[in-house]
Amino acid sequence: MAFLIFVLGLVIGSFLNALIYRLNVGRSMFEKHSICPFCKHKLSWLDLVPVASFFILGRRCRYCKRPISWVYPLVELVTAILFTAVYLNECGMWNVECGFNFNIQYSIFNILFQLAFVSMLIVIFVYDLKHYLILDKVVYPAAALAAVFQAMQGRFVDGLYGVLLLSGFFGLLYVVSRGRWIGMGDVKLGLFLGMLAPFPETIAVFFLAYFSGAATSLFLMGFGIKALKDRVPFGTFLTFAALTAMLWGKELVEWYFNLIGIYSSPL
Ligand SMILES: [Zn+2]
Repeated sequence: MAFLIFVLGLVIGSFLNALIYRLNVGRSMFEKHSICPFCKHKLSWLDLVPVASFFILGRRCRYCKRPISWVYPLVELVTAILFTAVYLNECGMWNVECGFNFNIQYSIFNILFQLAFVSMLIVIFVYDLKHYLILDKVVYPAAALAAVFQAMQGRFVDGLYGVLLLSGFFGLLYVVSRGRWIGMGDVKLGLFLGMLAPFPETIAVFFLAYFSGAATSLFLMGFGIKALKDRVPFGTFLTFAALTAMLWGKELVEWYFNLIGIYSSPL
């Protein structure tokens, strides 16, 4: 089963690549053919086998021989790994009965929702990294879906607190700095991520995003790749943090509170 989920992840990853590309150039998602971004040649199914085509074709377009970006197979692979992680997280590594027990509907619903969230997070992550932009038509539907999910879990109010914390804080930064420290896209992204990681998991998102952002910036500056004044796609770090919080949020919050010593776990 885990293997099937992995293969599904590869296929969905390939679809996400096409989605990210088409969102940028404004092509409809419903056009039949994928094309090479350089020579516009129509691609056959042979060119579109996830990960494998990339290596078999020697990392080049078959028609114009221009190099294909590493981002494509990476997105496919990461989607597959994260899909498998969601499944194992929900079902347990050794529980072969998972999906066939009396909780079947609950499990399947949970997994499907989380796979959808993983897909949306990947699109936002890659798009912000590439284009320094968070798209309304991705982030609003994602926020709505997350709200439905939390309502089903009885955590809608916690989600609202999460939204208040993230969007509220980012909104404040935006107003105070007149948009220099943070973009409006990050404020909107807070709607989705606050719902996805309800309070108190939101705190984990917050610290993970700032910590990973700072660590990466220092690393890039240390190697002279980026300067202090360069822009950082903060949405990329936020989505990474939210993904981690979605999968291991409760454990992270517990660990963090234990670390600063204001909370002792009842376990
Ligand atoms: Zn080409």
